[in-house]
Amino acid sequence: MTKRDYYEILEVSKTASAEEIKKAYRKQAIKFHPDKNPGDKAAEEKFKEAAEAYEVLSDQNKRARYDQFGHAGVGGNGGFGGFSGGMTMDDIFEHFGDIFGGHFSSGFGGGFSRFGGARTPQFKGSNLRVRIKLNLEEMLTGTQKTIKIKRLKLAEGVTSKNCPSCGGSGIQIQVTSTFIGQIQTQTTCRTCHGLGKIADKIPPGADTQGLIKKEEEVTIQIPAGAREGIQLSVRGKGNDAPFGGISGDLLVVVEEEEDKLIKREGDNLHQELYISFAEAALGTKKEIPISASGKVKITIEAGTQSGKILRLSGKGLPNLDGYGRGDMFIHINVWTPQKLTPEQKTFFEHQLNSGEMAAEPSGKEKTFFEKVRDLFS
Ligand SMILES: [Zn+2]
Repeated sequence: MTKRDYYEILEVSKTASAEEIKKAYRKQAIKFHPDKNPGDKAAEEKFKEAAEAYEVLSDQNKRARYDQFGHAGVGGNGGFGGFSGGMTMDDIFEHFGDIFGGHFSSGFGGGFSRFGGARTPQFKGSNLRVRIKLNLEEMLTGTQKTIKIKRLKLAEGVTSKNCPSCGGSGIQIQVTSTFIGQIQTQTTCRTCHGLGKIADKIPPGADTQGLIKKEEEVTIQIPAGAREGIQLSVRGKGNDAPFGGISGDLLVVVEEEEDKLIKREGDNLHQELYISFAEAALGTKKEIPISASGKVKITIEAGTQSGKILRLSGKGLPNLDGYGRGDMFIHINVWTPQKLTPEQKTFFEHQLNSGEMAAEPSGKEKTFFEKVRDLFS
């Protein structure tokens, strides 16, 4: 299924302010709220769709990535970041419940995500964030990486019981008498920190919530076209929640390993090629590495000048949105000999004196700026 444009979903312009986006989301959320449309699946989908759009557009970084890369930049099809697995109703109320205010019974309350009538406290474990270094080859083709992480896991043998201070509600109600009458204030229970449960039996090594730090191997799929700064998320591989809530996510931030030979610029790749004076004069064929595993043959014409740029169409990185690939640019440098044998010296001296090898630009040579302009036209 192709995703609709997030701006279109919220019915706002691409230049909408944060406040406008929030207002627009609120309007959509109220219109398609499950309390207003009981049993209506289409409305539920619209409700989820609006939440997803808001999740991205309300976050400055995600919005910037979406503007630049489309859906592939923030989740959905490409699997980058965000709610790549789709949002559940619980996620929506957990994240954006405050938007609904007191209008609906299934709104946000007391720090719990709630949906439906019964109060079912559900906690989410915290997210973990790791950085992963990828070389050009891995970004070019995509790869699979197995890394070791330390995450909080629910220790085996942990049992829990209802919190005696709050009776399992996670909330403590304080009644204060004032001159205008009694005032009730709700606070998060200090004993269980709002969980409603406390650990009963804690195995050795686990913390008071029954969590224990353990090393675990996680395999991450890296899609082709990944690059510096992109965030991939692996659901459920963050820290476990206490007493069997929803585990957090593992957020993987991609870092680009510097390549000695090939430089990246957007989807395009650049590399320098040094050829000898003789090769430039007589012409030659060269094998160019286009990745760690691939090579391509190029022809250097006789009389090639230093500074010439050859374009290898489609040999760059795959586009993040899935539209084609960038190009590879080969920058030719003619190498001037630095050590000459006596014979070579005599030869060049003769050339110099006779004037036969003098530079004779025809006037059609392109300046540096013209070459750069050609690259982008
Ligand atoms: Zn409590």
